[in-house]
Amino acid sequence: MIRRTKIVATLGPASADPKVLDKMMEAGLDVVRLNFSHGTAAEHQQRCDLVRALAKTRARAVGVLVDLQGPKIRIGKFRDDRIVLKPGDHFILDAACELGDQTRVGLDYKELVKDVARGATLLLDDGRIEMWVEDVQGSEVHCKVIQGGALSNNKGINRKGGGLSAAALTDKDIEDIKTAAVIRADYLAVSFPRSAADIRQAREILRAAGGKAWIVAKIERAEAIEALEEILDAADAIMVARGDLGVEVGDAAVPALQKRMTRMARERNKLVITATQMMESMITSPIPTRAEVSDVANAVLDGTDAVMLSAETAAGQFPTEAILAMHRVCLEAEKDMEPTFGNKLLDRGFLRTDEAIAMSAVFTALHLNIKAIAAMTQSGSTALWMSRMSTNVPIYALTPEVETRRKVTLFRGVYPVNFRPAKNDRDVLLSEAEDELRRRGAVRDGDLILLTIGEPIGKPGGTNTLKIVRVGERKKA
Ligand code: PGA
Ligand code: MN
Repeated sequence: MIRRTKIVATLGPASADPKVLDKMMEAGLDVVRLNFSHGTAAEHQQRCDLVRALAKTRARAVGVLVDLQGPKIRIGKFRDDRIVLKPGDHFILDAACELGDQTRVGLDYKELVKDVARGATLLLDDGRIEMWVEDVQGSEVHCKVIQGGALSNNKGINRKGGGLSAAALTDKDIEDIKTAAVIRADYLAVSFPRSAADIRQAREILRAAGGKAWIVAKIERAEAIEALEEILDAADAIMVARGDLGVEVGDAAVPALQKRMTRMARERNKLVITATQMMESMITSPIPTRAEVSDVANAVLDGTDAVMLSAETAAGQFPTEAILAMHRVCLEAEKDMEPTFGNKLLDRGFLRTDEAIAMSAVFTALHLNIKAIAAMTQSGSTALWMSRMSTNVPIYALTPEVETRRKVTLFRGVYPVNFRPAKNDRDVLLSEAEDELRRRGAVRDGDLILLTIGEPIGKPGGTNTLKIVRVGERKKA
């Protein structure tokens, strides 16, 4: 069995060593995430080059996702790096403060004073510290500490319920989008988008810089939940960014939202990544907790395209083990999934020929004993449609386009194959595709393969042909 759910891993100091990175690839890493909240453009470029070089020696595709920092609102620094707050303390968030102390701290987002009023609840350091706003005076937000604890330099601030007006793309993000274009990232994740307009703006800047990446909208603001449909229309993928989302909407609201987002993305032919704290304990432990195993398995059962690792692989002690753990949990959960072709899909109309072929292919694969689907594709869209249905038949995306091979690394159940037939001839194409799948051990003589092709062959354009062949039959004839 091959794993269908994909694994995204964030790179960082813990995965900087080429030997470790190579081990992570061997363990099943599909997509790397470059987190632009840390590090310089040059460092990310280097990491990206290393990933591609290692992938090349392994003769496989690994996707690269650039994750923008976004307008994460942070406090400034303290004179002594850290303070401890107690419930009931008065504390001032002061846009004019240079260096903080026990009574106040500075803000990198000066507009916070305009966005909050008495009665607002502010959550600092991913919700570990809670403050109630008593009053706003000039540059100062006066707060009363509700939940205390240690507070150190540059921790994030969220407002419970959302409503901070910071624009999704900062000047740094705009520069980083240009870097994403230069390194030819496959995916670009926009942090804290509020609306479809934020996604469109990112796409325009990226395209103007020559980037072809697909856009991932990170759903991590309360406003984004309300605008989910239009954000899904504007983006290619979403990330269920449970860290910040949990702070804004409350942790208990996240699981149901995760299920809804996963379903909505798939129904709209979009991709979905489930992120944050999936294997959190593996930052310091070689094995996951039962709760983490359940969390990963449930994301798989709900139909996520990918599960993501953050600090586990960026800064943890067991980056390879975290990938191995995810791998085995995904495989086991997938075993239990019944392929279904729901009535909802049967009642659906098609807008395009290639979409109709993709759906028919999966329908046929589920009702005839098809071993593998081979989709000859330029852009990957046929493979994307196929992967939106729940099937256990592997979908091989056969394409000469390196960028398409890297994109499909994120699609559930889709595997990239470098495919360049010797001739634009249907018979050559079919026999080479068959040989390729046989070589990979995906099929054996006697198995049925379903192929989708765009004809005339060699002319770029939509998939319009579905062909079923029995492996080995051609040789006999
Ligand atoms: P981050 O986004 O790791 O960049 O904060 C993911 C999340 O908020 O869950
Ligand atoms: Mn976040």
